[in-house]
Amino acid sequence: LYFGSVKFFKHLIIGVVALLIIIPVTLCIIFGAENSGKSREIAALEEQIAQLRESGAVDPSDPKALLDLYEKSDEKEEFLRLLSESDAELYASFVKTVPAMNISDYISYSAPGETTAAPSQSEEITSEESAAVTAAPETTAPFRTTSYTEPAESPSSYTELYPELYCYGTSDIIYDADEDYLYLTFDDGPSKYTENILYYLDKYNIKATFFVVPSGSDECNRLLKKIADAGHTIGIHSASHVYNEIYASVEAYLEDFKTAYDRVYNATGIKCELFRFPGGSINDYNCYVRDEIIEEMTRRGFIYFDWNVDSEDALGATWTQMYTNVLSEVEGKTRAVILMHDHNGGYNTILVLEDIIKALINDERCFKFGPLTKNVRPLQF
Ligand SMILES: [Zn+2]
Repeated sequence: LYFGSVKFFKHLIIGVVALLIIIPVTLCIIFGAENSGKSREIAALEEQIAQLRESGAVDPSDPKALLDLYEKSDEKEEFLRLLSESDAELYASFVKTVPAMNISDYISYSAPGETTAAPSQSEEITSEESAAVTAAPETTAPFRTTSYTEPAESPSSYTELYPELYCYGTSDIIYDADEDYLYLTFDDGPSKYTENILYYLDKYNIKATFFVVPSGSDECNRLLKKIADAGHTIGIHSASHVYNEIYASVEAYLEDFKTAYDRVYNATGIKCELFRFPGGSINDYNCYVRDEIIEEMTRRGFIYFDWNVDSEDALGATWTQMYTNVLSEVEGKTRAVILMHDHNGGYNTILVLEDIIKALINDERCFKFGPLTKNVRPLQF
């Protein structure tokens, strides 16, 4: 019989020995290949950093020259480790580029376009907001037939909804002087970068405006309170920021607005007077209901602001593009409402915010900065 014979045991032993050799060798080859790939990458990075330093492009007081490298790096933790080992001073100033930021956020941050797990709500928002500005009309054409819901009663029934949702303080407004005024506005927050934005605004003693997308969470409420306590204006942006939903009808818009309004009130005790439409007052998603919503919101006393300078941070602008966009678009305007974003993908905004502020402060026109209030003449598309 083969089973149990000497030949059987011989084959068994040979088989086991072969496996004992093959498995570790295979594993070694796999890990070895991976490691050599990694060390090649690290060596390349080390070389790039060295070249940058030699070329004089990296000034330790301005570590942004390293950012392109950092953003391109697949191994961000490795990048930071390497930098810290090769040049502690440069590392310290690089990390301090975003002073109020928790280093763990810094490391886990994924630049826009990188593959990540399911996008967070606010990242979705951003891409949608970009889409709202740029989307071709045909993509939104079926919108009304698919999403529009007829009002249950008379067409004006929405005027009776939410009787407490009125803003009584906005009649007989006298507008403030606004020549050479700049109004920084941050949409879509709060986010993990809100405190960074607040840090820079405080550093230069600037009051700004946050058009928020409040979630109602404790963390969100804490940040809303912080924004309010710092003296900035909070305006309503949206609760869901989902274009197809909020622009489905006037009722849908009011419901979303009321949700956001209540959340801000619960967190801060503030009854918002200002708002900004997701995607701006004119976008491809609201063409059928735009006029009715504006009329109804105006009737209720709320004031909306669009913008006349777009940093394009929600459209994927790099920090250098953002800088150029803001500085060039401010030129030739008697006053400017500047659109930026406070969202979890908004790393570039944080990087460049201080440079933008400094450049505007040092401009020969001696700009003044203000928060938007009901006494600021509305800027609308
Ligand atoms: Zn938005």
